[in-house]
Amino acid sequence: MQLLASYLSGAWAPGSGSRVALVNPATEAPIAEVNNGGHDFAAAFAYARETGIPALGALSYAERGALLAACAKAIHGAREELIALAVANGGNTRGDAKFDIDGGSVNLSHYAELGAKLGTVTLLPDGDVIQVGRTARMGGQHVWARRRGVAVHINAFNFPGWGLCEKLAPALLAGMPVITKPATATALVAHRMVELFAKLLPPGALQLLVGPAGTLLDNVRPGDIIAFTGGSATARTLRSHPKIAEHSVRLNVEADSLNASVLGPDVELSSETGGLFLADAVRDMTQKTGQKCTAIRRVLVPAARLDEVADAFKERLGGIVVGDPANEGVRMGPVATAQQLKDVREGIARLAGETASVYGGTGEIDVNGGKGYFVGPVVRSTADPINCKALNDHEVFGPVLTLGSYDGTSDYAARFIARGEGCLVSSAYSDDREWVAGFVGGAGAWAGRLYLGSAKMASMSPGPGTVLPALIHGGPGRAGGGEELGGERGLQGYLQRVALEGDASVLKALLG
Ligand code: NAP
Repeated sequence: MQLLASYLSGAWAPGSGSRVALVNPATEAPIAEVNNGGHDFAAAFAYARETGIPALGALSYAERGALLAACAKAIHGAREELIALAVANGGNTRGDAKFDIDGGSVNLSHYAELGAKLGTVTLLPDGDVIQVGRTARMGGQHVWARRRGVAVHINAFNFPGWGLCEKLAPALLAGMPVITKPATATALVAHRMVELFAKLLPPGALQLLVGPAGTLLDNVRPGDIIAFTGGSATARTLRSHPKIAEHSVRLNVEADSLNASVLGPDVELSSETGGLFLADAVRDMTQKTGQKCTAIRRVLVPAARLDEVADAFKERLGGIVVGDPANEGVRMGPVATAQQLKDVREGIARLAGETASVYGGTGEIDVNGGKGYFVGPVVRSTADPINCKALNDHEVFGPVLTLGSYDGTSDYAARFIARGEGCLVSSAYSDDREWVAGFVGGAGAWAGRLYLGSAKMASMSPGPGTVLPALIHGGPGRAGGGEELGGERGLQGYLQRVALEGDASVLKALLG
């Protein structure tokens, strides 16, 4: 069986200690192993600082962008191999795997293009020169300058490919060397991607840890950045890490999210907007077996339409074939790990205490001869969505969604979004602009992104569950309070904002 090696200090080494098996979640068969430790993290950080920082600093934005373009090309070249790894190690259908892997290369290409656009500049402006003295001669200018630290990336199990690339692209473009750590259980895709990228990047620019983080973060220093995606309990541990606190290390957190979808009172289910609402919700439930941080968990429907919507879900979900994604025709695979299955079952049981069953019962499903971490799609319903604690206080990270009825007002809809205490994305489907304005005004404080579904954009919409590199990803409160991507904004997460104060003509010259 393959023993996965980490790529630290310029060499591939498997580490040592006890071993953890990576399994195929559809069959429970072990497919690779990882050692639990045995790495010299202090040496890896020193290598990033002494070799990676100067190597990346010697390159312009355009040159670093070209490296990202080469990495995107490498993904294209190994696409089928990467898809096969995602199917075997992630329980992904082919479509799920493409979403992860192509999503990764899209992010690399996006930042490659930004690099080409920025060219050879060294400082990026943040706004214009402002007069801070008695006359215009004395000016102030905010700029984004390159940091001289290491970016540590810690990713969740659900997007090993996309997660690696969406963090790597802005960090490398900004000139920061990266130490990346995928979730252990599904590390195969990220491991293979780093094998491909390592040959293309300057020494020290990218290092990989497979296996537990151990004492990795004890080595952070001022100027470093940690970008974490995962559960809120782990995020809490990181927030109180003594070295992160001691050195004021910037910590970006992408955590849990109770994303909601609202059907506006003006929308007939048979309309284009109604069709988009249904298609988006069913896709989010079943794509990646609901293991998407952006997936819709809570759905608000005008009371008069609840039965009609419930019937539409039953019909569409009835056509979803659950099984081993290696088999033709399977539309939804297992969840990624035994722990995930346990957590999803517990989440459904918690929901069952406060909601009624619409579809799928408890999610028990008899497939694959009893092997594998399978759970079927589950829809529940409640007549009191805002006061349903199980719905609003706990994220069930699987193919589970709850319908709630409401009075159709934008005020209630916005309060329902707020009840999730901060989400990555929520969506509203309406062609009534006044209603939409009321919704956005109330809900905007509680979401990183608001997706506004309507008839005019329906035919070209990727749905709320797709994170686009041009728009920010992250959200307040429960979602972690972080922010990634968003085009040039994503780059700023890896730069230092400096206020320059002096002769206005000098400031102007500095920006070329
Ligand atoms: P997790 O258990 O928090 O693990 C996330 C990552 O943190 C893994 O790489 C894990 O490594 C690592 N980790 C665990 N303990 C650590 C520690 N003490 N120090 C440093 N690293 C540590 O989360 P998960 O089960 O992989 O992911 C599921 C959760 O992620 C869900 O709750 C979901 O909402 C959230 N999520 C959020 C987003 C987003 O963008 N907001 C995206 C995807 C998922 P090991 O695997 O080696 O333990």
